[in-house]
Amino acid sequence: MTTALPRDLPEDVPLLDSPARRLVGDRTAKELEKLGLRTVGDVLLHLPRRYVLPGELTDMRSLTVGEDVTVMARVAAVSLRRTQRGGALLHVTITDGVREMLLAFFARSTRTLEHHQRRLAVGRVGVFGGRVKAYRGSYELTHPDYQVVGVDVDDEAAALHESSRPIPFYPASSALPTWRIRKAVRTVLGAVRAEDVPDPVPEEIRAARGLADRYRTLSELHDPADEGQYLRGRDRMRYEEALVLQAALARRRRTIAEQDAVARPGAADAASSLLAAFDRRLPFTLTAGQVDVGGTIAHDLAQPRPMQRLLQGEVGSGKTLVALRAMLQVVDSGGQAALLAPTEVLAAQHARTVRALLGPLAEDGLLGGAETATRVTLLTGSLGAAARREALLDAASGRAGIVVGTHALLGPKVRFADLGLVVVDEQHRFGVEQRDALRTRDEGPTPHLLVMTATPIPRTVAMTVFGDLETSTLAEIPAGRPGVTTHVVPADNHAWMERTWRRVREEVDAGRRVYVVCPRISPDDGAGQDGTDAADLVTDAAGLAWQPAPTRASADPEATDREFLRLMTAEGFVPPPDEPRPLRAVLDVAEELRAHPSLAGVPVGIMHGRLGAAEKDEAMARFASGEVPVLVSTTVVEVGVDVPEATVMVVMDADRFGLSQLHQLRGRVGRGSDPGLCLLVSSAAPGTAAAARTEILAATTDGFRLADADLRLRREGDVLGASQSGRGSSLRLLRVLEDADLIAEARQDALRLVDADPSLDRWPELRRAIDRWLGPDREEFLERS
Ligand code: ADP
Ligand code: MG
Repeated sequence: MTTALPRDLPEDVPLLDSPARRLVGDRTAKELEKLGLRTVGDVLLHLPRRYVLPGELTDMRSLTVGEDVTVMARVAAVSLRRTQRGGALLHVTITDGVREMLLAFFARSTRTLEHHQRRLAVGRVGVFGGRVKAYRGSYELTHPDYQVVGVDVDDEAAALHESSRPIPFYPASSALPTWRIRKAVRTVLGAVRAEDVPDPVPEEIRAARGLADRYRTLSELHDPADEGQYLRGRDRMRYEEALVLQAALARRRRTIAEQDAVARPGAADAASSLLAAFDRRLPFTLTAGQVDVGGTIAHDLAQPRPMQRLLQGEVGSGKTLVALRAMLQVVDSGGQAALLAPTEVLAAQHARTVRALLGPLAEDGLLGGAETATRVTLLTGSLGAAARREALLDAASGRAGIVVGTHALLGPKVRFADLGLVVVDEQHRFGVEQRDALRTRDEGPTPHLLVMTATPIPRTVAMTVFGDLETSTLAEIPAGRPGVTTHVVPADNHAWMERTWRRVREEVDAGRRVYVVCPRISPDDGAGQDGTDAADLVTDAAGLAWQPAPTRASADPEATDREFLRLMTAEGFVPPPDEPRPLRAVLDVAEELRAHPSLAGVPVGIMHGRLGAAEKDEAMARFASGEVPVLVSTTVVEVGVDVPEATVMVVMDADRFGLSQLHQLRGRVGRGSDPGLCLLVSSAAPGTAAAARTEILAATTDGFRLADADLRLRREGDVLGASQSGRGSSLRLLRVLEDADLIAEARQDALRLVDADPSLDRWPELRRAIDRWLGPDREEFLERS
């Protein structure tokens, strides 16, 4: 093939940055652009999603659910119809002459599907690839990849010949099927030479790790001679992704580590120490973990370099206390500390908790306040003008040693006299950029930073998302915690539901509190839409049957777990074509409970994101005091809310919540001296993945295990903030759990490179890759991390 075309470009435009149009023609270029592929480089990095191996055509008799298959078959019937929800569904029946199976395509409108309908005319033969699901008693492939003989390939012989090498299947659109993308990629590959493809992985690392260069890797990924080539290629691209990301994090960590910070060693003598006075007041002894991590943090704070630490821990492990002791050390050193919470409810609660824990030590300037006392100020977006002015003054004058708030603390009007420490609670709600905003907006020394996660996170997530921070872990729960028992309650079992509400009544009568959590606020809200407190809901594919593995009978939780994970990672979670049942809403459920005979005379409160700040405060305060012992709420109570008398957590539509969120919700009870009870009300049919999810939650309280399962469930794309359809540059291939070792290796390499040359001048291609990665995709990544 001649390479004349691109050479008439201006000399200084690298081939990879030039428009793909010049090589593939206008029509294809237009369709490529709709997939976000503009340049030659974009097209080269548009990698196949899967491959079909030669001779891998699957016998239809041997299909099993969850398996990746490729079948050659003839189209037997086609039906295009509207669904009850107003969407469109194309069902195609294919047959090998004996057996039949179903193909399903969903779309918003029938128009979108007409293209498939035309190509998949009755009588045509094609090769179809996808993951097998069971649907109403037959096997189904949802949105399969396919090639039609006579349309995409000339004849059956050609189709089979194509199958003598692995066939790449690309992420495609209906207008530009995988087949045409493959052609376009071939054209582009033919025009590109090795020297046109810069490689971010430094040569010495490639040599040491035995990695191919990028040009060869991409060629082999697009046109592999055998399975080994594309597997190697994929590993090499994964490694590259990990290296670029880790180098970015290492460089960032290094940059901050070189900034100046004020050492905050604490009070010179115990007599004037707020921290010492606080420790004397504590009604309990610190756990070994709290002492240990506390020591590490105390040491960090005493350095003239900014602390950059992540504190992660099991729900209820007492992270707040560790953070508060760090803040007191800073106040003892003459500085101020800011505590950032993700919601107003949580910020208000933190302020209350901190004041309560400090007692007279938080009553600076008040009669009866202790001599060493400081002031704890709350600053949120919903303060009235006067209160806000006062809070701003507290922060700016230094009168407040501790300022608690939401992201309102990040506003440009907020000034601190001497900000020494920023604590970010429940970090997953904040982006890296936001945590930085507080630290870097002024000239002068950088405050120390302590980030706390709400739930335990797998090691690799810590490495990937929080790779710029050092990690401390609190695994231990304070002794004497009675623990939480978890049960699944079938929603349609009247007797069990009645028993649930009677149980709630018993707890209330015993002086305890009960949360009832619903996925949405009012019946008119769509779940998870704006203004509904965005519950983290999971949609399972219609009829996704969970066929119990034989090992299940042994009730081996590990086996259940494996089977569950296998299903959860199955591809193709699509909205069910049938009308889903409506989800329970706070306002409805509160009404029902108020009218319920078992709860006669029991005050029932409500709580959700659309209440004003004062209403929220009041609802929480009444609940905490026991005046209103039953609180029907959205997931706004999910993170960090701490009412020790709360013993029961009822979650409505629990089968629709994500695992981490359920674990968090459960963590709201059993925090005091009485045992907790978590009741997961579920409508999931037995044997479905959704049912398996609640069963797993009932079976374990180990947050690390649940976090792992949750991560697999939602796929790493979400964790890292990269969309599946993401552009060529970032985080498309990396799987945070499976690639743990590779990420660890890349991290080591990245640290070595940054140590050797912090500016990465010696590896300009790596630096460029980092800058590209930090470019357009950055915001998305940072927002969601
Ligand atoms: P989380 O780590 O989930 O944020 P919290 O900091 O909210 O947990 O702590 C949970 C509860 O445990 C709080 O009521 C807190 O006062 C209490 N607590 C913290 N440390 C100890 C301890 N060492 N002994 C007993 N109770 C503790
Ligand atoms: Mg907490």
